[in-house]
Amino acid sequence: MPPSNSVKDYIRTIVDFPHEGIMFRDVTTLFADPRGFRMAIDQLLHPYAGQQIDKVVGLEARGFILGGAIAHQLSKGFVPVRKKGKLPAATIAEEYQLEYGEAVIEIHDDALSPGEKVLLVDDLLATGGTAEAGIRLCERLGAQIVGCAFIVDLPDLGGRRRLEALGIEVHALCD
Ligand code: 5GP
Repeated sequence: MPPSNSVKDYIRTIVDFPHEGIMFRDVTTLFADPRGFRMAIDQLLHPYAGQQIDKVVGLEARGFILGGAIAHQLSKGFVPVRKKGKLPAATIAEEYQLEYGEAVIEIHDDALSPGEKVLLVDDLLATGGTAEAGIRLCERLGAQIVGCAFIVDLPDLGGRRRLEALGIEVHALCD
């Protein structure tokens, strides 16, 4: 692929994954390209220049890749939010709705301290259910969400509206 200044150009679409009728936005091609990956990290950080961020929280699994790079760039700590049963120490959990059924995500109960300012990161915002559950986990530990940053927002699915209705600032690199 020729070099591009648009993050969108590095993302490919896989038709009918994980099941028929779904157009999956695959960001592994963005992560695999050194120019694309650096551009994405720089652009995700841009709106927060000069703002206090104490911890970066990443949602499993692609939020770990982005969140780790962002935390490193900021010289701050990284905290994972994982699917139920994956974190080894004591956790708190939040349930949220999927298209079919429910899911549960967890955070270590000592991962954030009251008053800490958190940037929450994931690759893609769809309905906002995952991000909202992540926000609730952080807030239950007393942390304050500075913003939620995503590579892709799927605006038709309403995630941005849902998070903004909670008073959360949402930033996405492309629709
Ligand atoms: P939501 O909870 O906002 O409905 O869904 C967002 C979550 O599902 C994110 O953790 C995201 O990684 C995953 N997801 C849903 N659809 C896609 C997609 O098309 N591409 C990617 N990369 N992730 C998706």
